Amino acid sequence: MAYTVPKLKDLSDATLIAAVNECIRACEAEADAVETEAESKALRDRWLGRKSGILTRINEEWLRAAPKEAKKNVGARVNELRFQIEARIIGAEESVKDRQKKRSVEADRIDMTLPGISRPIGAEHPIIRTMNEIVAVFRNLGYSVQEGPEIETDYYNFESLNFPPNHPARDTQDTLFIANQRTKPLREQLLLRTHTSPVQIRTMEKIKPPIRIVIPGKVYRNDPPDASHSPMFHQVEGLAVDTNITFGDLKGTLDHAMKAFFGSNVKTSFRPSFFPFTEPSAELMVSCFVCGGSGRRGSDTCRPCKQTGWIEILGCGMVDPNVFEFVKDNGYDPARVSGFAFGMGADRIALLKYGVDDLQLFFQNDVRFLRQFA
Ligand SMILES: [Zn+2]
Repeated sequence: MAYTVPKLKDLSDATLIAAVNECIRACEAEADAVETEAESKALRDRWLGRKSGILTRINEEWLRAAPKEAKKNVGARVNELRFQIEARIIGAEESVKDRQKKRSVEADRIDMTLPGISRPIGAEHPIIRTMNEIVAVFRNLGYSVQEGPEIETDYYNFESLNFPPNHPARDTQDTLFIANQRTKPLREQLLLRTHTSPVQIRTMEKIKPPIRIVIPGKVYRNDPPDASHSPMFHQVEGLAVDTNITFGDLKGTLDHAMKAFFGSNVKTSFRPSFFPFTEPSAELMVSCFVCGGSGRRGSDTCRPCKQTGWIEILGCGMVDPNVFEFVKDNGYDPARVSGFAFGMGADRIALLKYGVDDLQLFFQNDVRFLRQFA
């Protein structure tokens, strides 16, 4: 039964204490029953409401009605009662809040024993890894890495590299030109670079000699894709320019690099060749690291070296003085400096290194294939 303010039969201390205790017990019982926020608000209004709350009525019926000589004692009892009632109502409000918080924590709880969501981390592509390994060999020799744009002008891709105007590489049969360039002067016409060599000129324009640089990057040619060709492939080039650089430096550097990359057992051999931007030019062969140079694997012939015992790895040579003429103003006087350059196809080396027989596999992004190299 809900509590109502009783009329006191007298104002003796015993009567007052009994009435106060009864009131507190009633409030306690109501506070214990509170479960929701709405209920706790109703409880506060019922007991502490300014206009018609129980404590307001006790004030009127017990205190205000008391004769003058009893007011002090009744006032002290009523104040004590107010203090006790407030404490219980605040207690009820706190416990409602606690219950709510607990409920929301329960709802948000994560089951830590469930397995997590695993995301595959991925791995370096075998061609990128090969390029990084080649670059690392030259970085250890003090070379720094340079990069340049993949869309180039005819000037940087051909003219400054000593390609004559009628060189077959300048034909659309071989090179991918950007459309609608024919009205521009030849040297400004845009194309997809056919080698990383334009970066050599761009670097020599920026940095005075001596320089030692290595240039990894994508290059493009008008080749239909097949097992050994792709319209996009990767090169790593190098360039060293200083006073008194000789062909001996070239041979020593590349022999060291090939041993560092393929293993200390490989032998190197140079065969005369031709490139427009080097003179003299050479092709570098390494002894076959698959068959050890014998040309045979057991009773079978060795395919990677086509039974010759040698594998062609790169082109190289001494920088043609005509190339230095284009950057003469930045300290590259061909009468004073000399240098060597080399370039290799990273894709072909990756094919040989990983024993893959079709270049297209590298570019088809089939995870089943790529995962083998991770
Ligand atoms: Zn072989």
